[in-house]
Amino acid sequence: IIDARGLWKRFGNLAVLKGVDLSVAERELVFIIGPSGSGKSTLLRCLNRLEEPDDGSIQVDGIELLSPKTDINAARRRIGMVFQSFNLYPHMTARQNVMLALRKVLGKGKPEAGEIAARALDRVGLGDRMEHYPAQLSGGQQQRVAIARAIALEPRVMLFDEPTSALDPELVGGVLNVMRELRQDGMTMVVVSHEMAFARAAADRVVFMADGEKLEEGPPARIFGEPQHERTRAFIRQID
Ligand code: ATP
Ligand code: MG
Repeated sequence: IIDARGLWKRFGNLAVLKGVDLSVAERELVFIIGPSGSGKSTLLRCLNRLEEPDDGSIQVDGIELLSPKTDINAARRRIGMVFQSFNLYPHMTARQNVMLALRKVLGKGKPEAGEIAARALDRVGLGDRMEHYPAQLSGGQQQRVAIARAIALEPRVMLFDEPTSALDPELVGGVLNVMRELRQDGMTMVVVSHEMAFARAAADRVVFMADGEKLEEGPPARIFGEPQHERTRAFIRQID
């Protein structure tokens, strides 16, 4: 469903992605790991064109994302993204935050947006917190609102960039559970995260990046159990 080839991205003189290929099959959960600065976030951001690659091609659902002919807003609708920071509007309730995306992005009317938002919030376990403001929610609950906001738009793929790294440890599990359920429901997901236990348990494939290159990829048991590349071994030793 995603087929990215030869992605290059430079910031000034610094090459951050050096010809990265990444393909993701439908319903697959691909986990991206690697040292800080290796280009993981940049790669995710290229996949929905928050960042413009200098070279390469990205097909999502058969659409060439980088073609000037592509309606980028239409293409982006197919790709939901969740970041470390939840970016909710503080003066809006959980439900209003989700509704806003539905109204702005999909042009839904108020009653329909309200219903879809309620269903999405229910799905992330916040059916009883819909009328709460962000300040009245825990960090984990706020992140689940952000996930609800993304899934309400019915994306074909969800990208997660360190969705739990801003959370207190006791709140991480709730967010990972929501991600696990999404996966069980058949959502295609690309996840950058340091939650290695989750990667081992839930990922179909783990991609290891270093210095803007994909050094190896494979099933979690192999990447964590018998990494081939010295850099992967060093990284895994250090996080274990
Ligand atoms: P982390 O694990 O710390 O989040 P990462 O693997 O996500 O790291 P990126 O955020 O993709 O790494 O950054 C890769 C490199 O690109 C870093 O050296 C970073 O400083 C640089 N970089 C990222 N965005 C920009 C930008 N907008 N302008 C200049 N340099 C940037
Ligand atoms: Mg990052």
